[in-house]
Amino acid sequence: MIEYETICPKCLIQSRKSDISHVHISRMTGEVTDADFIKATCTDGHSINIFPREGKYPFILAHALRSFQAGQLYEAAASGYAALEDLMKLFIQASTWVSTDQPKDVKPLYDKVASNKLVMGNSTRIIGAYAYLYQLNTGSIIQQRKFEKMSHIRDDIIHAAKIPQASDVNKLLVAIYKHVSIATIRWYHSADNGRHLLPWLPEYKMQLATAALMESDLASNNTQEIINQLTQSTTILLPDMQLFSDVNELNTRIEEISTKEIDAITIAENIPKL
Ligand SMILES: [Zn+2]
Repeated sequence: MIEYETICPKCLIQSRKSDISHVHISRMTGEVTDADFIKATCTDGHSINIFPREGKYPFILAHALRSFQAGQLYEAAASGYAALEDLMKLFIQASTWVSTDQPKDVKPLYDKVASNKLVMGNSTRIIGAYAYLYQLNTGSIIQQRKFEKMSHIRDDIIHAAKIPQASDVNKLLVAIYKHVSIATIRWYHSADNGRHLLPWLPEYKMQLATAALMESDLASNNTQEIINQLTQSTTILLPDMQLFSDVNELNTRIEEISTKEIDAITIAENIPKL
């Protein structure tokens, strides 16, 4: 099971109302599936249909890393690559949104792109579309050999039924973690006030989450409940919500991530805990 995890917003609000000096935090968990919404329940019994507005890939990647920690190498390799593919799909969607002047209602565009088999039909097409849009939107070229290596390790394990070696899966997960981290922060734009570089991917994700929620019959009529349904998880391991004051700072961070010697176990240990 791929676990979703956050802090229960209901418990947080209740505790703020009753005693501002003592914040009560409960862990809220659910299962990430193919459905848009996650039914999450807290240890105090609250239940919310949450739309994972940060995307599913942070949770799938966390699952891959934890599986590696537990020695489940097939699970680690398969879900690691699934996280990468989920990010690629989201990136393609967000790129389309940006290049069509960021329409207010993102859902029809999302559905149109999602059902376009020429772009989203299989892994090879997804990589092609992603590589092209990545270059177009970040000005940075994907290193083809590095990327092919990732998908070869995965193909050998998944399709050729090769018994996975811990060292190969470690390499795959580290490469995926680094790529996802860098990709999510590379795509920034200058704010009008010029003070910070703003992340576009989270902006798109928020728009998509809101549109999907409004279209769904799971949306609440209560404003606070809607905010709860769109709560961002507190336990994400990726740096895609960081703010950078200028391009140099952003480039330094990218350089740090790409050159850092790290293994999958250490990344797994660094997943924030509630
Ligand atoms: Zn609660």
